[in-house]
Amino acid sequence: MDNFIYQNPTRLIFGQGQVQEQLVQQLKPFGSKVMVVYGGGSIKKNGLYDEVISLLKENEFEIEELAGVEPNPKLETVRKGIEKAKDKQVDVLLAVGGGSVIDATKAMAAGAKYDGDVWDLVTKKETPKDALPFGTILTLAATGSEMNAGSVITNWETNEKYGWGSPLVFPKFSILDPLNTISVPKDHTVYGIVDMMTHVLEQYFHQQKNTPLQERMCEAVLRTVIDEAPRLVNNLEDVEKRETILYSGTIALNGTLQMGTKGDWASHNIEHAVSAVYDIPHAGGLAIIFPEWMRHHRKMGQEKLVKLATRVWGVVPAGKSDEEIAEEGIQKLEQFWQSLGAPSKLADYDIDDSQIEVMADKAMINGSFGNFNKLNKKDVVEILEASL
Ligand code: NAP
Ligand code: FE
Repeated sequence: MDNFIYQNPTRLIFGQGQVQEQLVQQLKPFGSKVMVVYGGGSIKKNGLYDEVISLLKENEFEIEELAGVEPNPKLETVRKGIEKAKDKQVDVLLAVGGGSVIDATKAMAAGAKYDGDVWDLVTKKETPKDALPFGTILTLAATGSEMNAGSVITNWETNEKYGWGSPLVFPKFSILDPLNTISVPKDHTVYGIVDMMTHVLEQYFHQQKNTPLQERMCEAVLRTVIDEAPRLVNNLEDVEKRETILYSGTIALNGTLQMGTKGDWASHNIEHAVSAVYDIPHAGGLAIIFPEWMRHHRKMGQEKLVKLATRVWGVVPAGKSDEEIAEEGIQKLEQFWQSLGAPSKLADYDIDDSQIEVMADKAMINGSFGNFNKLNKKDVVEILEASL
């Protein structure tokens, strides 16, 4: 494996009742003027908004709000949040929502301490030097954003969607109560499951040698999600399943699985290019692209694909070639996602071949990419064509 230094400074506060128990004492050290950032209203419907605002009021916080962060958060909303945070001189931000709200809050936190346009930070033209502190209350199991330093922002003026990150935007704390995820509807529950599984898969496909523990940890998360997800999707109010899936989403992308390895991350890059052109859910795109990325690597990636097929999907190898075993594993993954209700082709979103060149060029903006295998434009076009 590669040498590594690992530090994850986010305080993870997990379990039922933890908002009541912990929010005030976690937030207080950062000041009394808080800007609550949230999405399109799910927290108003499920009562979490009232709970949080009452707690803050009872404890004499001064409250500002930035509502309306959209799924695939928009640059213009981030800019609005930065303006408000600067104008009102808030001390601390509190993200209450899913990955989109948390990602937007990260950009607001860094942007509020930057003199230029926050897009410079997202495009990595400039590196953040400072950021406002922020905490999160997660409401959707999916991205791992609650315990990592990454963020994805979309610029709809230029149709660009980029991931960026900085150690300055690790949340100071994140409160994860499975009860706050009960109201997530079936489609977003499934998207979350696909997203966390692809995060693990991205990290499973790496070129570092001697990583048996990293592989087994990835396999453990995948096996757990494969066992638990169908039961949750059949009963969205199952709190124990919500709890396991919530924890799985965090472990999938808080750095634990990638120690000493690089992961691949090409499929995420291609998906960002797709959803920069078509505003589709991140994990819907991944459910389509990831299996085709794997198929594209059937020949060169056979050893890993065989491991995945046999250890995770229980494919019986006897009498089969490595390529057949690999293909069977890929099909099991596709069938699993489809059985949950995830899309399997770009056509499911009415996407045809007319923008393939545009999407491929967007994916290639920083040159060839992927750590397991470097993809060039021809590879990206082939993967997208196979995804149609
Ligand atoms: P999301 O975009 O935050 O939320 C999806 C939908 O679920 C929204 O309509 C939201 O409604 C709703 N929702 C959230 N919590 C709910 C609840 N408890 N009850 C009912 N509805 C609820 O979904 P996400 O998958 O967490 O985040 C996706 C974004 O994260 C994408 O932009 C993706 O690119 C990015 N991402 C980031 C990372 C990272 O490491 N930072 C990793 C992967 C992906 P409201 O708006 O009304 O709340
Ligand atoms: Fe993701």
